Amino acid sequence: MAKRIRLAKRVVAESDRLAARLAETFQQAGVFVANLMSSPGSGKTSLLEETARRLAPQLRMAVIEGDLATDRDAQRIRKAGIPAYQINTGGGCHLSARQILDALDRFDLAALDVLFIENVGNLICPAEFDLGERRRIVLASTPEGDDKPIKYPVAFNKADCIVLNKIDLLAATNFSRDAFLGFVRGLNPAAPLIELSCRTGEGLDAWLDYVRAERRAAASGAPRTPK
Ligand code: MG
Ligand code: ZN
Repeated sequence: MAKRIRLAKRVVAESDRLAARLAETFQQAGVFVANLMSSPGSGKTSLLEETARRLAPQLRMAVIEGDLATDRDAQRIRKAGIPAYQINTGGGCHLSARQILDALDRFDLAALDVLFIENVGNLICPAEFDLGERRRIVLASTPEGDDKPIKYPVAFNKADCIVLNKIDLLAATNFSRDAFLGFVRGLNPAAPLIELSCRTGEGLDAWLDYVRAERRAAASGAPRTPK
């Protein structure tokens, strides 16, 4: 057992070391890097498609797509007009700093303003792995229910920004906005909470303003402030 704990500690230390290297690389390049996490189906890819349609080409953006299998999401992103680099984890349930580091060989980071990392769809272990990102964005959506935050407290507690998607479906679900806000604020009092609908476009402006502001901060060389 002691041996296993020692090994686990070594793996975590290696992962943190690579994440620190990534953070430094991103800061030097002046690129805003956001790590998106959610359950499957909350709308990570949809949010990135809408962001691409509205902010490219004013901002030079790309996406690293993490999926267990297929390149379907990468294809959607490319159709929306920006490059996407697929990582298939082959069953792995989160992206690792090593995988991101390897992906950086596939494009010119310095030619970007914003890099989105769409993590594997699950709210559990992606929250445990720093990828050197400036901001950690956690998405939820109304059909999933209002209790996601208390069921996955680590993800919501560590989030720098929380997006509630599919607000156009509020009336069709039992989702209580007040309950959701209460759960979120109990875990994370200060992170911006942006309510939107990728389908209708409602609320997207607030999200785009957030991306623009974070991009300006990253371009000015301001270091990230990890939780
Ligand atoms: Mg997706
Ligand atoms: Zn995992």
